[in-house]
Amino acid sequence: MIGIIGAMEMEIEGLKKRMSITKEEEICGLKYYVGTLEGKDVVVVKCSPGKVNAALCAQTIILRYEPKLIINPGVAGGIGDNVYIGDLVVGTACVQYDCDTTALGEPKGNLSTNKGELVHLPCHKEYSELFSETAAEVYEGKVHRGIVATGDQFVADPVKCLELKRDFEAMACEMEGGSIAQACFLADIPFVALRSISDNANMEGKVDFMSFARQSAKKAEDLLVKALPLVKL
Ligand code: SAH
Repeated sequence: MIGIIGAMEMEIEGLKKRMSITKEEEICGLKYYVGTLEGKDVVVVKCSPGKVNAALCAQTIILRYEPKLIINPGVAGGIGDNVYIGDLVVGTACVQYDCDTTALGEPKGNLSTNKGELVHLPCHKEYSELFSETAAEVYEGKVHRGIVATGDQFVADPVKCLELKRDFEAMACEMEGGSIAQACFLADIPFVALRSISDNANMEGKVDFMSFARQSAKKAEDLLVKALPLVKL
């Protein structure tokens, strides 16, 4: 089973259309669509934006469907000179930039978990490479590998972008990847973050997001569908 979590309907609607749905389960208000997509057993769900929504959803998938892989396709703000609207960022790791215990002398983004203290939540190397390599074949726009910075904020501020770049070498900012990655890390489940850029997290962020989120979301879905047959669990 592969778990696929999108935050917004536009990030999963194309997947729902293309999959053959055998079961629909509602758990704590979220709808889990179980079936097959490109020959793979999948469960697809819209978790709503934000870290808590995403973590609850990831944990539910882990406990209920025992996935061998969780993928988080969706849109994000691009960070840096080189990351434009329509580009793809496949995460090398996620950070939760808004976790801050620096007053205690700990690094920015430090997470305290039962598996120890860490800043970087891993994305699975081989699966992520498979997606970025497939993307290079089918994707219009550049394909980047890099750090995805997650926090409970829609970033539309160039100063915040510089900070995320300086502190975490972030390439994209969004609101779910880091929390899904944490649930996966704790449960030892491979995780892939696939983020298609909808805006540059700057002053134009709101207008760009409104204009480009839908088409960028579709690009991430298209790539997922293209690469799924190549995934060997
Ligand atoms: N109420 C709106 C909120 C959207 S929040 C809704 O439910 O549709 C923006 C979403 O797009 C989040 O899921 C986030 O992961 C992603 N995103 C895109 N650009 C972003 C940016 N610049 N900063 C943070 N998140 C961004």
